Amino acid sequence: MAIRVPTRQLFIGGEWREPVLKKRIPIINPATEQIVGDIPAATAEDVEIAVEAARKAFSRNKGQDWPSTSGAYRAKYLRAIAAKITERKSELGKLEVIDCGKPLDEALWDMDDVAGCFEYYADLAEGLDAKQKAPVSLPMETFKSYVLKEPLGVVALITPWNYPLLMGAWKVAPALAAGCTAILKPSELASVTCLELADVCREVGLPPGVLNILTGFGTEAGAPLASHPHVDKVAFTGSSATGSKIMTSAAQMIKPVSMELGGKSPIIVFEDVDLDKAAEWTLFGCFWTNGQICSATSRLLVHVSVIFSVLNTYQMTSQPVLYSSCFGLIFHDLKSRIELLFLKALHQSFWTGLSNGPKRLRFLILLKKVVGLAQLLVEGRQYEKVLEFIATAKSEGATILSGGDRPKHLTTGFFVEPTIITDVTTSMQIWREEVFGPVLCVKTFGTEDEAIELANDTHYGLGAAVISNDLERCDRVTKAFRAGIVWINCSQPCFCQAPWGGIKRSGFGRELGEWGLENYLSVKQVTQYISDEPWGWYQSPAKL
Ligand code: NAD
Repeated sequence: MAIRVPTRQLFIGGEWREPVLKKRIPIINPATEQIVGDIPAATAEDVEIAVEAARKAFSRNKGQDWPSTSGAYRAKYLRAIAAKITERKSELGKLEVIDCGKPLDEALWDMDDVAGCFEYYADLAEGLDAKQKAPVSLPMETFKSYVLKEPLGVVALITPWNYPLLMGAWKVAPALAAGCTAILKPSELASVTCLELADVCREVGLPPGVLNILTGFGTEAGAPLASHPHVDKVAFTGSSATGSKIMTSAAQMIKPVSMELGGKSPIIVFEDVDLDKAAEWTLFGCFWTNGQICSATSRLLVHVSVIFSVLNTYQMTSQPVLYSSCFGLIFHDLKSRIELLFLKALHQSFWTGLSNGPKRLRFLILLKKVVGLAQLLVEGRQYEKVLEFIATAKSEGATILSGGDRPKHLTTGFFVEPTIITDVTTSMQIWREEVFGPVLCVKTFGTEDEAIELANDTHYGLGAAVISNDLERCDRVTKAFRAGIVWINCSQPCFCQAPWGGIKRSGFGRELGEWGLENYLSVKQVTQYISDEPWGWYQSPAKL
């Protein structure tokens, strides 16, 4: 089906607006490496105008247009946005595919999640009304106290490219539900669907300036936005390096920030598992979203008694090429038949396999039957970066068990084979750093304590998964994980009702669920003196 990338401008104050410096950034379809359109490139000049528009929207009509209306009023807009996203799901999904290269099926799931997220925060906006003036019990009868939950003000929402519209929705929906006005700055690498969100906001008649969308480079648009003195909060999702820069500039103004950053998450597979299921979750946990997911469980820790990767029937039949050059659209169908067989073997034979030449060879040949699925990365630099990670792992002595290169049959496009790396030590780069691409590194363990120690051997703390039939063990491991999200007998499922976020260098603050709404609310204490008696300041005994 034909799809054309619409030409859009910045969305400021409810209108399309050409960037002051008239700059634009080309959109490159990662599958074809062809330019398929362009997006406006905002600079500090546009940031000024957008922040002003958001401030006006916050204070217009003494706040009665947005922040001081009821949650129920704001919920109507959120529901209208959700309905439009659903109506335009197919078109938006295809635009996402062209823009960031994700499989169409996944892009369509994302659109359902986007609509679901707006619906969910519409519910929470409605619920907010009943939570106002929650009483606080005090130890003195002469006073009463309650709490108001108020929107923080103008918020900057800065997002990455791996879930372009969904990451936007995770921030826009709760921010608007809370009554904030916002400026969304999506990634320069994938902004197309966020500009379509602007179109949706126009269509549903969102009051002008409540949501402004500025596309552009991080340094030119993101940095002046994050450091703007009239921005009351920055909610950021992206790399730890950029998060650190934003925190540094926010610190100058004591500006609150929330940080959703990178990860290097572990998945522990114990010996008592159903091997088929364990294998499927392991692969899904690392290779879904073409491996470009912050919470990817990209460090597989597997018990030595399980021959972890005898993937002797694992076939990922890559059919990436229902490709239509006229539309620049690629449907790389990942409905691959993933037939994995994790064979159990005796502890002893595994070790023999590792120490004995011919057996080790046989083992590796079995593992190499992992047939390359073409995974498409967002852009050329990311593609180069992933290949460099693999080359460094090789040069440091690791073994590339499968993948490790671009698929031979694809000469254009930023495709990389899903890559499994063994013989990894804990000092190697591939063990320590986030690849943000389809690369799984594997280590074995002997005891539960060893598994936990290896799992927590990282600066990051976003996700962690444990696969075992022993639920008591799962419980122990869950408590021992130093991570913000734990999956038991699965990896990656994400629900907008549950909190999302990390610890350590994966960031702080939580998105989604009621925690996501709290991100954009300020708590105001209101205390009233209710006694008829004079206060009697220095009267003895003291009243306080
Ligand atoms: P990035 O840090 O390069 O960019 C993220 C956003 O920040 C973009 O919009 C970019 O333009 C902007 N930006 C860049 N420099 C800036 C600056 N100096 N000031 C203000 N804004 C600036 O990250 P990316 O490459 O787009 O995304 C990949 C990273 O995002 C990975 O590390 C991944 O783990 C992380 N991520 C985390 C989560 C999570 O929920 N924790 C989700 C998705 C992605």
